[in-house]
Amino acid sequence: AKAMGRAQVRIFDKELEADMVRRASIEDALDGALDRREFHLEYQPKLDANGGTVVGAEVLLRWIHPELGFVPPDMFIQTAEETGDIEAISEWILDETCRQLRSWMDDGVTDIPLAINLSSQQLQSSNLADNIARTLRKYDVPADRLDIEITESMLIADFEAAHSQIEKLRQMGIRIALDDFGTGYSSLSYLHRLEVDVLKIDRSFVNSLDKPQSRLIVQSIMTLAKTLNLRTVGEGVETLDHARFLRANGCNEMQGWLFSKSLRAGDFEEWLKSGV
Ligand code: C2E
Ligand code: CA
Ligand code: CA
Ligand code: CA
Repeated sequence: AKAMGRAQVRIFDKELEADMVRRASIEDALDGALDRREFHLEYQPKLDANGGTVVGAEVLLRWIHPELGFVPPDMFIQTAEETGDIEAISEWILDETCRQLRSWMDDGVTDIPLAINLSSQQLQSSNLADNIARTLRKYDVPADRLDIEITESMLIADFEAAHSQIEKLRQMGIRIALDDFGTGYSSLSYLHRLEVDVLKIDRSFVNSLDKPQSRLIVQSIMTLAKTLNLRTVGEGVETLDHARFLRANGCNEMQGWLFSKSLRAGDFEEWLKSGV
């Protein structure tokens, strides 16, 4: 048992070491990535669950590093929060999203709202609402063209501050969605403490709708949303069965690979033109 214990410690050390090396290299790679223009945005459509029309799109951050290649956001956003790089990156995402909204409106491509994901740092910044208002003005974009997604697993140290920023944004006409709903430890507490407009049902539930347990959970979330008068979006919709189940249970919007993966601006325009 003693030898085992020591072996386990060694394995743990190795994993920890690999983790630290990975983190350090991501940290190094992040430094200056924005200036080197290694980021771009992609857009994933959200469809009306009944009519099938495109009613919005989620903005997803993409990073292609010259040596590391494509680095998924889940692998660097937390590090970027720790290094502080997230601030400039978030600023750029907001600016680029509003620029794209303006350009699509001017070119008559589309006027659907775009939804950006907020970092936990943004949600706790006392300038959040002002920053967003300023960027909307810069591009002359109406506030109701911008949606915001916040994740319930975000650690919010100061609920009072987050609440007041969210209130300001909602008063401007920006809709707030609670993302990954049902996966955190405090889903209901978040709903209770922050007023939101939309519940996004986490893709882990949608992806496992073949299990009775997941079906019951999704149905309960729908009932809750109806009771609280919230809209619902099902994400991670990959099959017709997923889509049928969500529609049958009153889900308002759907997003997932069944309809489209996230696309670069040009490809998104083509996808819109080709019709759904
Ligand atoms: P999320 O907000 O839950 O974003 C949805 C994720 O689901 C995206 O992963 C998307 O590519 C993926 N997805 C979409 N449809 C399907 C599907 O049908 N099946 C499956 N299996 N997956 C699907 P992605 O782009 O890797 O992003 C991961 C997370 O990183 C996001 O989760 C979000 O929390 C964060 N993130 C992405 N972009 C940004 C950003 O601009 N800012 C911030 N702060 N976070 C971001
Ligand atoms: Ca999201
Ligand atoms: Ca999500
Ligand atoms: Ca997520």
